Amino acid sequence: MLNYVLIMLPLMVLLLLCMHRAYLSPKDISTDVYRLLAAVMAAILGNVLIATSPIAVICKAGYMIYFIGTDFVLFYLLIFSIDYCGFKSIRKYVRGIFLTLSIADSVSILLDPIFDHVFAMKIITLDSGESYQSLIPYWYHDIHLFISYIAIALIVTIYIVKLVNTSRIFWRKYIVIFAGILLTAVWETLYVFLEKALDTSMIGFAVCGIFIYYYSIERKPVALLDRMKNMILTSVSDAIVFFNKDGNCIYANDSAKVLFNVQGDDLSDIQRQAIELTSVTTEQLEKINSIRTRREFEREDGVHIYDIEYHKTFDGNGHRIGSFSKITDRTEEIRKQKEEQYLATHDLLTGIDNAESFYSKVRKRLDEDPDTEYVAVASDIKEFKLVNDRYGRAVGDRILVKIARTLEEAASEHTIYGRIGSDRFGALMRKEDYKEETILQGISEIPALSIDTQTQYPVIIHVGIYEITERDTAVSVMFDRCFMAISGIKNDATARIAYYDEKLREDLMWEQRMAGSLDNALLTGQIVPYLQAQVNRDGRVEGAEVLVRWIHPEFGFLPPGKFIGIFEKNGMISKIDKYMWESACRILNSWSFIGREDLYLSVNISPKDFYLMDVPTEIINLVNKYDIDPRRLRLEITESIVMDDAEEKIKTIEQLRANGFLVEMDDFGSGYSSLNMLKDMPIDVLKLDMVFLNASTENNRTRAIMKLIIDLAKALNIPVIAEGVETQEQVDFLSEMGCDYFQGYYFAKPVPLMDYESKTLKRARSDN
Ligand code: C2E
Ligand code: CA
Ligand code: CA
Repeated sequence: MLNYVLIMLPLMVLLLLCMHRAYLSPKDISTDVYRLLAAVMAAILGNVLIATSPIAVICKAGYMIYFIGTDFVLFYLLIFSIDYCGFKSIRKYVRGIFLTLSIADSVSILLDPIFDHVFAMKIITLDSGESYQSLIPYWYHDIHLFISYIAIALIVTIYIVKLVNTSRIFWRKYIVIFAGILLTAVWETLYVFLEKALDTSMIGFAVCGIFIYYYSIERKPVALLDRMKNMILTSVSDAIVFFNKDGNCIYANDSAKVLFNVQGDDLSDIQRQAIELTSVTTEQLEKINSIRTRREFEREDGVHIYDIEYHKTFDGNGHRIGSFSKITDRTEEIRKQKEEQYLATHDLLTGIDNAESFYSKVRKRLDEDPDTEYVAVASDIKEFKLVNDRYGRAVGDRILVKIARTLEEAASEHTIYGRIGSDRFGALMRKEDYKEETILQGISEIPALSIDTQTQYPVIIHVGIYEITERDTAVSVMFDRCFMAISGIKNDATARIAYYDEKLREDLMWEQRMAGSLDNALLTGQIVPYLQAQVNRDGRVEGAEVLVRWIHPEFGFLPPGKFIGIFEKNGMISKIDKYMWESACRILNSWSFIGREDLYLSVNISPKDFYLMDVPTEIINLVNKYDIDPRRLRLEITESIVMDDAEEKIKTIEQLRANGFLVEMDDFGSGYSSLNMLKDMPIDVLKLDMVFLNASTENNRTRAIMKLIIDLAKALNIPVIAEGVETQEQVDFLSEMGCDYFQGYYFAKPVPLMDYESKTLKRARSDN
């Protein structure tokens, strides 16, 4: 018995030490281990009490502590095993059930002094002569054992399941602890069933506890780590090669074998190839400790790019023990990088630089070459949206690609170019390389689109030039200036190139101010209709043309020439025109009340109006609203409206005429008038442009043409009105030629409504 205590004492000290270390350990599992060891300690204490004390009461307590202790040893062993094997999902349930069982069992054991159902003791004498309180189990003792064996069975199952489901390289981690537990369980069982007199089974408990502590907390799995390192080394995509002190290759991982194309274990060829790859001679290699370099190598499947590292390895005392090389194939990565960079800096459709990349190249050039003068050139396709809408994106794309190719071919080696936006391209050229003719030539190479065999849609490209004077200006602003120049081209049908200058900037500012103040002007009555009389051969007023004036609070009296162009360009013209039409209708309506339904008014319709709104609907609504006869509202259109989509426009005109309106062809002779047009255009009145009058008095040719036009109109039954008539002489010869009506300063200037009414209305009435 003394021997037993002598064995147990150091074990208990050791256990305490392990408990202390487990308590301090940061590992997650350490709490489980600590509790397990504490339970083992309790059981051992109980056992030692039994073994050392002959007094019955103390032994009784010892047995009870021992039984309860083993309950908790198994409970904590179970929890430890679950955590150690990582079975999180069952932890909660198992813990709940076994904690309840253990507590119930403990309570039952504690009640033994009352119910006498667990055990009794009898004194026996050992071989050594010492007396010992031996156990006589009652019926409940079997239940206690039964609970213990359920726990043990569960623990065993946990390890078996874990071993089956885990990779062999981790087996050692579980199998050792499993074996320890199994051995202890067998040892214990032997004691229970052999019913040996002195129960020394606690030695097994203690050893098992220390063992578990060591394996789960103290031991570092060197072998496992080694195997993992080895596996990683073998399977990484980098090629890794080890050389011994003499430079012979002693290890090559799988990637290296593939890279150096060696089969089997003959590594001698790798040595040669690896040195070749670093492009360093053996002598040089002697002198250096490490190399990092990037090399390109021609291989069977093309050129590869490798990052190569070579390092010598030294032991703790600085003695060289060998070297290793790491070779990484960067080919794919670099290809992807280049691809991404290409995508980021190039326009996908045309393959030339995109705006960002173009701008940064321009910036760089201007900074690096400060002594050369440069010009910024930008192009824009006129009404490109229309091309896309009408012919489809594919056709639009073809034009853009063609422009890019033309740019590419025309660009000198000093020219930088790119695609700035949808249909906008830009270039930076040296001033000495810039020639207007070259550019005109270039843009003329973009072919017109064939609509059918006869009709061609002209692709008009506008070019804006900014001679770079302020080099520090942002590049995007420089090109904005080119586009400003382009927007100055306006509706000029022939201009293709425009230059940015200060005047242009001022014009554009002016345009912006005008555009910004129109809405307010319409609301506050700054936009005013002026009326200019139209008279017949007898000089009697038949009607008047309504002409817009802007009485601007800041700029004063503005004739339409100052703003109509701007609003035609930006689409705000329809606001003015609608306002003027409505004013005309209101005036006509007021004249109805004074019995002057015989007077008409002519209003101007801008060609742009037809794109911006449904002209017939607007005008029909107005005459309905003001309840006037459509014949009294004459509509002046210019021949330019049939420049495109003639058929559609002719339909619109027909529709207006069908609704009772008279349509006048304004400015006839000013543009590209063709006599042919008179044949197709369904018009009621022809208005001869004043250009004829300026030249007519002297120029016989012009006279002849005028006569021809008037005769033709007569033949077609279309009355003719001449505008811009300023002299008696003009009236005479126009009358002679057969002109029916006149409008001009000779008769009356455009005047405000009040003036018109006070002069003309009265006179017209007195004429009646
Ligand atoms: P337009 O339609 O050809 O109008 C006739 C222009 O000739 C008017 O110029 C008028 O004042 C001017 N004029 C009339 N008689 C004579 C003359 O004997 N000698 C000279 N030298 N000029 C004469 P205004 O009012 O400056 O209008 C200019 C142009 O502005 C108009 O040409 C028309 O195209 C446009 N416009 C005027 N009002 C409107 C409008 O309400 N809407 C639209 N869209 N355009 C308008
Ligand atoms: Ca007119
Ligand atoms: Ca006119």
